[in-house]
Amino acid sequence: MSNPETHHGACHCGAVKFTVDLDLSQGLSRCNCSFCRRRGALGAIVKPSAFHLVSGEPSLSEYAFNARVGHYRFCKVCGVHVYGHGTLDLLGGAFVSVNVDCIDDVDLSGVEVRYLDGRADTWQVLRTEIGARW
Ligand SMILES: [Zn+2]
Repeated sequence: MSNPETHHGACHCGAVKFTVDLDLSQGLSRCNCSFCRRRGALGAIVKPSAFHLVSGEPSLSEYAFNARVGHYRFCKVCGVHVYGHGTLDLLGGAFVSVNVDCIDDVDLSGVEVRYLDGRADTWQVLRTEIGARW
């Protein structure tokens, strides 16, 4: 039973602001692909309808790599990665991956973190076991 709450987030300088309807009981994700290891983001994958960019579109730039499935958007002013978007059947179609560390009004203690093995190029499969160096 999904029970999402609306949370407010922003990049560091405040140029980019967003809201996201998030059900923390669905868990969060961390990925070990070459990009995610460097950005270190703790993500929540939601449907595009659950994400709303409040301000900052002109301040956003975008990065994509490899198969260019994910489009990672970051603030051109402060450099903080805010969210990514893309389309993948295994994630139910179109998705938005929010950097939950950009959310101010959320308590992440005790929230389950699942791991995506992006390094093995199977990052779309959420794993609960921890075996590799993440
Ligand atoms: Zn910023």
